[in-house]
Amino acid sequence: MGDNKVRPTHVAANGQEVPDNLRFKIDSMDWDIEHRGVGARTYMIRPKDESSRAVANLKNCRCTVHRDPNGIAQHINTGQPVVAGKKVTVTVSVQAHLVVEAEVGTVYPGNLRAEGTHFMDRAALTVAGRR
Ligand SMILES: [Zn+2]
Repeated sequence: MGDNKVRPTHVAANGQEVPDNLRFKIDSMDWDIEHRGVGARTYMIRPKDESSRAVANLKNCRCTVHRDPNGIAQHINTGQPVVAGKKVTVTVSVQAHLVVEAEVGTVYPGNLRAEGTHFMDRAALTVAGRR
């Protein structure tokens, strides 16, 4: 909300960009560390995310999330086909912030899991399916 009521842990979350299947992180509040067993950081899928196990850090939160429908896809690059003998090779790649974690998944402290989207894997299967 950008006013003087926003607690510092939430101000620090402003502008964080993470792929949709991953969590953003904010500093934990002491009460959540002592009573909820969260570590120094709280990992959330979205504002007021109870799966983060935090309670104090969710109370009175007015944060919002903005979704970019293009996300990581806007960083996908496709190379030119390379013909060598009877083989044609095209390289499709993507390089972006947290792209590896988005592809294969990750585990956060406290065993909070983010499943991988395997979007590049699925793209290759789509091409392979056009036989
Ligand atoms: Zn907030």
